[in-house]
Amino acid sequence: MAEKKVPTAKSKSADKPKLAPGATSGYYTDSLGFMAMDSNVPGLSNVILQKLNMGSFEEYRSAVEGNDLAENFGFRSYSEMFQKMEDTYKFCVQCKKLPSSAPEGRSMRRCKRCQNVYYCSSECHRENWPMHKKFCRKLKLAAIDRLVEWLIFTGDIPFTTSPWTTSISDVKTWDDWFSIQENLEEKIANIMAGRYIGILWSNCGKPKPENAELRESIKRLTTDFFTRPLTIGFAMNAFRIDPFTGPITVHVVGASHIETLNIRETDYDELAKMFPGNQGLEVVMVGPEVVNGPVMRLPLTAYGPRGKVYLSGYKALYHVFWETLVENQRAARPDLVVGFHPGFHASQGLTEGWLPTLLLLRDYNIPCLFTMYSDQELKYSLQILAELEMKVLGAGPFPFASCKPEQVQSDPNKPPVSSNSHFLLFKGTTWQDSETDMGELED
Ligand SMILES: [Zn+2]
Ligand SMILES: [Zn+2]
Repeated sequence: MAEKKVPTAKSKSADKPKLAPGATSGYYTDSLGFMAMDSNVPGLSNVILQKLNMGSFEEYRSAVEGNDLAENFGFRSYSEMFQKMEDTYKFCVQCKKLPSSAPEGRSMRRCKRCQNVYYCSSECHRENWPMHKKFCRKLKLAAIDRLVEWLIFTGDIPFTTSPWTTSISDVKTWDDWFSIQENLEEKIANIMAGRYIGILWSNCGKPKPENAELRESIKRLTTDFFTRPLTIGFAMNAFRIDPFTGPITVHVVGASHIETLNIRETDYDELAKMFPGNQGLEVVMVGPEVVNGPVMRLPLTAYGPRGKVYLSGYKALYHVFWETLVENQRAARPDLVVGFHPGFHASQGLTEGWLPTLLLLRDYNIPCLFTMYSDQELKYSLQILAELEMKVLGAGPFPFASCKPEQVQSDPNKPPVSSNSHFLLFKGTTWQDSETDMGELED
């Protein structure tokens, strides 16, 4: 997530990159996301806070920072939990009215096809259809996925994956990845027969989708879960980083509560399966919004166990982390730095906040892969890197993007985005002739 505003680093090219024209930030539940919500649907952020039994964004933040979410959020039953989650989507998609301001005696009615958007009246429904029909089908998938996502929290998703039997370079798409999973159909059938999926459909207040639709949703959520470790693995492959002769350290820069809130020690184990015989892989989450949960241990000073993935975290701006730990040998120098939607293109303030980090990564010549939500974000990010004279080695649509559609909550009739949909690889500066042995990465 976005790093906060900090004084700019001492550097010869500390000139501010220009603000990307029309840059937006609308997909986050951080303060910026909350502001964007209210500009689309006045009062929506309050509804969300209310549903979560929170008084303010600060309270939400502090609950998110705490470890005992269940207690803070205080749901009494499954149906109440699903209801409250759904209520945060309940506003008229045409006139933006919230249920509280709908005419007396009228309740919000949901589009029957997608089970996702709401209308205060049949007039609004009719007026909105020409626009909504373009997104109704995609929004149906999004509505199923946001329920099925619960199975990640219950532990049903993901299934236990198989070790990679093919070389990384031969796994080019999600279809390839699913094809190396032994007994895939059986594994998905087990999830479908699980206890929690039953609880889900008897409490969520929506009709249960067809089995085929559910299977597809489970697969999309599986890609959503594994997109992050696979992003790291493919960046390692692209930069020919060798985990077999020595341990590897990966820093996840700008990590936020999105990556760290519900993280489990095993969440990046897929990386060890990608590189059987590795000498130990450490993934360090760094960012001011890192949640110090139970698995967020300090970065290693000695090497971690061979053949395994060790997760750690540090709550600070990246360049502060670097000065405090890396420079004092209290954390390893990274072999690779990855940023999941850092969003440094999003505004002037953010660009300034990211500047010390970007310059540090550039000047230490560190292999980096950053991801974006869209082609447009990629374009703006490339402009910024160009202004900083950073050497871009590859960019484009990312083959291991999450397949789960991410709707803009406050404005559903917009093309949904997906996590890690685009990527860019960079290392060093355009004027340095840093020789880089690039591996393959399909665009
Ligand atoms: Zn309306
Ligand atoms: Zn619809």
